[in-house]
Amino acid sequence: MLGIMSAEESEDVRVAISKKRISDSGLRMTAARRQLIEILAESERPLSVDDLSQRSKGKFDLVTIYRNLEVFREVGIVEVILLENGRNLFVLTGEHDHSHHIVCRHCLKTERIEFCMGGELERYASSRGFSNLSHTIEVFGECPECEAKH
Ligand SMILES: [Zn+2]
Ligand SMILES: [Zn+2]
Repeated sequence: MLGIMSAEESEDVRVAISKKRISDSGLRMTAARRQLIEILAESERPLSVDDLSQRSKGKFDLVTIYRNLEVFREVGIVEVILLENGRNLFVLTGEHDHSHHIVCRHCLKTERIEFCMGGELERYASSRGFSNLSHTIEVFGECPECEAKH
């Protein structure tokens, strides 16, 4: 099977971790939440709200999808990947709390980067008197398969 990322947990493990975080947060596992988690877990790449709408066969309206993704983000089940064109993609975090990704700008194939270099940037921001820091870093490029097609 095509894994979404190298060295990634299996689909079942990511579903189980996500469900546990929902219940640990005292939230109800609704049909919509269960299905959205399963669609994200089985996807070969991060998904947009439109992708989720299509893959759920229009069962949930966009507002329902947006609201649940927001809940997922708050409890740490999904991470948002902001694309170069301003669109958001959503990916299950699995057992990772914080990641950066390499994203193919053609096919949206995504790999998790196994380290974070944001600490240095945050130390710099801190030295400039900023507090309550966070950071978002994604790397965009052309994957080997897309590159071979050109
Ligand atoms: Zn590609
Ligand atoms: Zn980081």
